[in-house]
Amino acid sequence: MASAQKILVVEDEPDIRKLVQYNLTQERFSVLEAEDGEQALKLLQRERPNLVILDLMLPGVSGLELCRLLKQRSETAKLPILMLTAKAGEADRIVGLEMGADDYLAKPFSPREMVARVRAILRRSEAKPATETAPAFDKGSLKIDFSTYEVFVRGKPVKLTLKEFELLRFMVLNPSRVLNRDQLLDRVWGGETFVTPRTVDVHIRRLRKAVEKDDRKPKWILTVRGVGYKFDEKALE
Ligand code: CA
Repeated sequence: MASAQKILVVEDEPDIRKLVQYNLTQERFSVLEAEDGEQALKLLQRERPNLVILDLMLPGVSGLELCRLLKQRSETAKLPILMLTAKAGEADRIVGLEMGADDYLAKPFSPREMVARVRAILRRSEAKPATETAPAFDKGSLKIDFSTYEVFVRGKPVKLTLKEFELLRFMVLNPSRVLNRDQLLDRVWGGETFVTPRTVDVHIRRLRKAVEKDDRKPKWILTVRGVGYKFDEKALE
Protein backbone atom coordinates (compact mmCIF):
# COMPACT_ATOMS: atom_id res chain seq x y z
CA MET A 1 0.00 0.00 0.00
CA ALA A 2 3.03 2.25 0.16
CA SER A 3 2.48 3.16 -3.46
CA ALA A 4 -1.18 4.18 -3.01
CA GLN A 5 -1.90 7.44 -4.71
CA LYS A 6 -2.95 10.24 -2.42
CA ILE A 7 -6.03 12.34 -3.05
CA LEU A 8 -6.84 15.49 -1.09
CA VAL A 9 -10.56 16.25 -0.77
CA VAL A 10 -11.44 19.85 0.08
CA GLU A 11 -15.14 20.06 0.94
CA ASP A 12 -16.99 21.55 3.89
CA GLU A 13 -20.03 19.29 3.65
CA PRO A 14 -19.21 16.20 5.76
CA ASP A 15 -21.61 13.91 3.86
CA ILE A 16 -20.04 14.62 0.51
CA ARG A 17 -16.54 14.44 1.94
CA LYS A 18 -17.33 11.03 3.42
CA LEU A 19 -18.86 9.83 0.17
CA VAL A 20 -15.74 10.80 -1.73
CA GLN A 21 -13.44 9.42 0.94
CA TYR A 22 -15.30 6.10 1.15
CA ASN A 23 -15.40 5.50 -2.58
CA LEU A 24 -11.79 6.44 -3.20
CA THR A 25 -10.60 4.29 -0.29
CA GLN A 26 -12.54 1.37 -1.78
CA GLU A 27 -10.50 1.92 -4.94
CA ARG A 28 -7.27 1.79 -2.91
CA PHE A 29 -6.51 5.47 -2.97
CA SER A 30 -5.23 7.07 0.17
CA VAL A 31 -7.44 10.03 1.09
CA LEU A 32 -6.67 13.26 2.94
CA GLU A 33 -9.53 15.48 4.02
CA ALA A 34 -9.82 19.23 4.51
CA GLU A 35 -12.91 21.20 5.50
CA ASP A 36 -11.78 24.47 4.00
CA GLY A 37 -9.02 26.20 2.08
CA GLU A 38 -6.92 26.99 5.12
CA GLN A 39 -6.85 23.39 6.26
CA ALA A 40 -6.04 22.34 2.72
CA LEU A 41 -3.08 24.73 2.53
CA LYS A 42 -1.77 23.48 5.88
CA LEU A 43 -2.05 19.89 4.75
CA LEU A 44 -0.26 20.72 1.53
CA GLN A 45 2.75 21.96 3.47
CA ARG A 46 3.49 18.48 4.71
CA GLU A 47 1.71 16.16 2.29
CA ARG A 48 2.22 15.69 -1.41
CA PRO A 49 -1.09 14.50 -2.85
CA ASN A 50 -1.31 13.32 -6.46
CA LEU A 51 -4.60 15.12 -7.06
CA VAL A 52 -7.00 17.52 -5.35
CA ILE A 53 -10.78 17.27 -5.42
CA LEU A 54 -11.86 20.81 -4.76
CA ASP A 55 -15.36 22.02 -3.95
CA LEU A 56 -16.04 25.50 -5.27
CA MET A 57 -18.44 26.47 -2.48
CA LEU A 58 -16.27 26.69 0.61
CA PRO A 59 -16.44 28.92 3.67
CA GLY A 60 -13.58 31.42 3.87
CA VAL A 61 -11.19 31.08 0.96
CA SER A 62 -13.37 30.09 -2.01
CA GLY A 63 -12.61 27.11 -4.19
CA LEU A 64 -11.75 29.35 -7.11
CA GLU A 65 -9.33 31.40 -5.02
CA LEU A 66 -7.70 28.26 -3.73
CA CYS A 67 -7.42 26.93 -7.28
CA ARG A 68 -5.72 30.14 -8.37
CA LEU A 69 -3.37 30.02 -5.41
CA LEU A 70 -2.35 26.42 -6.08
CA LYS A 71 -1.64 27.20 -9.71
CA GLN A 72 0.47 30.24 -8.77
CA ARG A 73 2.73 28.40 -6.37
CA SER A 74 5.47 26.48 -8.08
CA GLU A 75 5.23 23.52 -5.64
CA THR A 76 1.58 22.96 -6.48
CA ALA A 77 1.32 24.42 -9.99
CA LYS A 78 1.26 20.98 -11.58
CA LEU A 79 -1.04 19.39 -9.02
CA PRO A 80 -4.12 18.15 -10.93
CA ILE A 81 -7.46 19.55 -9.73
CA LEU A 82 -10.94 18.11 -10.11
CA MET A 83 -13.54 20.76 -9.23
CA LEU A 84 -16.86 19.99 -7.64
CA THR A 85 -19.59 22.42 -8.46
CA ALA A 86 -23.18 22.69 -7.31
CA LYS A 87 -24.04 25.38 -9.75
CA ALA A 88 -26.05 24.64 -12.82
CA GLY A 89 -24.55 27.61 -14.67
CA GLU A 90 -21.52 27.21 -16.85
CA ALA A 91 -19.74 30.37 -15.69
CA ASP A 92 -18.04 28.94 -12.60
CA ARG A 93 -16.86 25.87 -14.42
CA ILE A 94 -15.36 27.91 -17.20
CA VAL A 95 -13.62 30.23 -14.75
CA GLY A 96 -12.31 27.19 -12.88
CA LEU A 97 -11.05 25.54 -16.04
CA GLU A 98 -9.43 28.75 -17.18
CA MET A 99 -7.82 29.02 -13.79
CA GLY A 100 -6.18 25.67 -14.39
CA ALA A 101 -8.53 23.03 -12.99
CA ASP A 102 -8.25 19.85 -15.01
CA ASP A 103 -11.89 18.84 -14.98
CA TYR A 104 -15.13 19.40 -13.12
CA LEU A 105 -17.96 17.34 -11.77
CA ALA A 106 -21.41 18.80 -11.10
CA LYS A 107 -23.24 17.79 -7.95
CA PRO A 108 -24.96 15.47 -7.47
CA PHE A 109 -22.46 13.09 -9.03
CA SER A 110 -22.24 9.34 -9.04
CA PRO A 111 -19.30 7.92 -7.07
CA ARG A 112 -18.38 5.76 -10.05
CA GLU A 113 -18.17 8.77 -12.29
CA MET A 114 -16.05 10.58 -9.71
CA VAL A 115 -13.60 7.67 -9.50
CA ALA A 116 -13.47 7.45 -13.32
CA ARG A 117 -12.65 11.16 -13.60
CA VAL A 118 -9.94 10.89 -10.94
CA ARG A 119 -8.33 8.00 -12.79
CA ALA A 120 -8.55 9.79 -16.13
CA ILE A 121 -6.90 12.93 -14.77
CA LEU A 122 -4.14 10.94 -13.08
CA ARG A 123 -3.52 8.96 -16.25
CA ARG A 124 -3.26 12.15 -18.28
CA SER A 125 -0.97 13.90 -15.84
CA GLU A 126 1.37 10.91 -15.76
CA ALA A 127 1.35 10.32 -19.48
CA LYS A 128 2.41 13.78 -20.56
CA PRO A 129 5.33 13.35 -22.93
CA ALA A 130 8.37 15.57 -22.54
CA THR A 131 7.42 17.64 -25.58
CA GLU A 132 4.37 18.93 -23.73
CA THR A 133 6.54 20.43 -21.07
CA ALA A 134 8.21 22.62 -23.68
CA PRO A 135 7.82 26.17 -22.38
CA ALA A 136 6.50 27.77 -25.51
CA PHE A 137 5.66 27.54 -29.17
CA ASP A 138 6.62 30.53 -31.29
CA LYS A 139 6.37 30.35 -35.02
CA GLY A 140 5.23 32.93 -37.54
CA SER A 141 1.94 34.41 -36.45
CA LEU A 142 1.24 31.92 -33.66
CA LYS A 143 2.64 32.13 -30.14
CA ILE A 144 1.67 29.81 -27.30
CA ASP A 145 2.96 29.94 -23.75
CA PHE A 146 2.34 26.46 -22.37
CA SER A 147 2.88 27.43 -18.76
CA THR A 148 0.59 30.47 -18.65
CA TYR A 149 -1.89 29.12 -21.22
CA GLU A 150 -1.63 32.33 -23.23
CA VAL A 151 -2.16 32.24 -26.96
CA PHE A 152 -1.32 35.05 -29.35
CA VAL A 153 -2.44 35.06 -32.96
CA ARG A 154 -1.03 37.74 -35.24
CA GLY A 155 0.11 39.57 -32.12
CA LYS A 156 -3.28 39.58 -30.41
CA PRO A 157 -4.22 37.55 -27.34
CA VAL A 158 -6.84 34.88 -27.97
CA LYS A 159 -9.14 33.43 -25.32
CA LEU A 160 -9.54 29.69 -25.42
CA THR A 161 -11.24 27.23 -23.11
CA LEU A 162 -9.00 24.62 -21.50
CA LYS A 163 -10.06 21.93 -23.98
CA GLU A 164 -9.54 24.20 -26.96
CA PHE A 165 -6.11 25.05 -25.59
CA GLU A 166 -5.19 21.40 -25.07
CA LEU A 167 -6.42 20.55 -28.53
CA LEU A 168 -4.32 23.33 -30.06
CA ARG A 169 -1.27 22.34 -28.01
CA PHE A 170 -1.50 18.72 -29.09
CA MET A 171 -1.90 19.72 -32.72
CA VAL A 172 1.01 22.18 -32.83
CA LEU A 173 3.25 19.66 -31.10
CA ASN A 174 2.33 17.11 -33.76
CA PRO A 175 2.53 19.25 -36.90
CA SER A 176 1.73 17.97 -40.37
CA ARG A 177 0.59 14.65 -38.96
CA VAL A 178 -2.92 13.44 -39.68
CA LEU A 179 -4.64 13.06 -36.33
CA ASN A 180 -7.82 11.04 -36.26
CA ARG A 181 -10.71 11.82 -33.96
CA ASP A 182 -10.02 8.90 -31.66
CA GLN A 183 -6.43 10.04 -31.11
CA LEU A 184 -7.59 13.54 -30.32
CA LEU A 185 -10.31 12.27 -27.99
CA ASP A 186 -7.83 10.10 -26.19
CA ARG A 187 -5.14 12.76 -25.85
CA VAL A 188 -7.32 15.72 -24.97
CA TRP A 189 -10.31 14.18 -23.25
CA GLY A 190 -8.64 11.10 -21.74
CA GLY A 191 -11.10 8.69 -20.20
CA GLU A 192 -13.90 11.24 -19.86
CA THR A 193 -17.39 9.99 -20.37
CA PHE A 194 -20.04 11.72 -22.49
CA VAL A 195 -17.65 12.63 -25.26
CA THR A 196 -18.02 11.43 -28.83
CA PRO A 197 -16.09 12.07 -32.04
CA ARG A 198 -18.58 14.92 -32.59
CA THR A 199 -17.10 16.62 -29.54
CA VAL A 200 -13.81 16.88 -31.42
CA ASP A 201 -15.52 18.47 -34.44
CA VAL A 202 -17.30 21.02 -32.28
CA HIS A 203 -14.05 22.03 -30.56
CA ILE A 204 -12.16 22.18 -33.85
CA ARG A 205 -14.82 24.53 -35.17
CA ARG A 206 -14.48 26.82 -32.15
CA LEU A 207 -10.71 26.68 -32.31
CA ARG A 208 -10.78 27.70 -35.97
CA LYS A 209 -13.08 30.60 -35.14
CA ALA A 210 -10.57 31.73 -32.54
CA VAL A 211 -7.32 31.39 -34.47
CA GLU A 212 -7.95 31.26 -38.22
CA LYS A 213 -8.12 34.42 -40.28
CA ASP A 214 -11.19 33.05 -42.08
CA ASP A 215 -12.60 30.04 -40.27
CA ARG A 216 -14.57 29.01 -43.36
CA LYS A 217 -11.31 28.67 -45.25
CA PRO A 218 -8.94 27.34 -42.59
CA LYS A 219 -5.25 27.40 -43.40
CA TRP A 220 -3.75 26.06 -40.17
CA ILE A 221 -6.20 23.45 -38.95
CA LEU A 222 -7.03 21.36 -41.97
CA THR A 223 -9.69 18.72 -42.38
CA VAL A 224 -8.49 15.40 -43.73
CA ARG A 225 -11.67 13.95 -45.16
CA GLY A 226 -12.83 10.72 -43.64
CA VAL A 227 -9.90 10.64 -41.20
CA GLY A 228 -9.54 13.67 -38.97
CA TYR A 229 -7.45 16.81 -38.81
CA LYS A 230 -3.96 18.08 -39.48
CA PHE A 231 -2.08 21.13 -38.29
CA ASP A 232 -0.21 22.73 -41.18
CA GLU A 233 2.84 24.34 -39.64
CA LYS A 234 4.03 25.67 -43.00
CA ALA A 235 0.97 27.90 -43.22
CA LEU A 236 2.11 29.83 -40.13
CA GLU A 237 4.76 31.81 -42.02
CA1 CA B 1 -19.35 23.05 -0.14
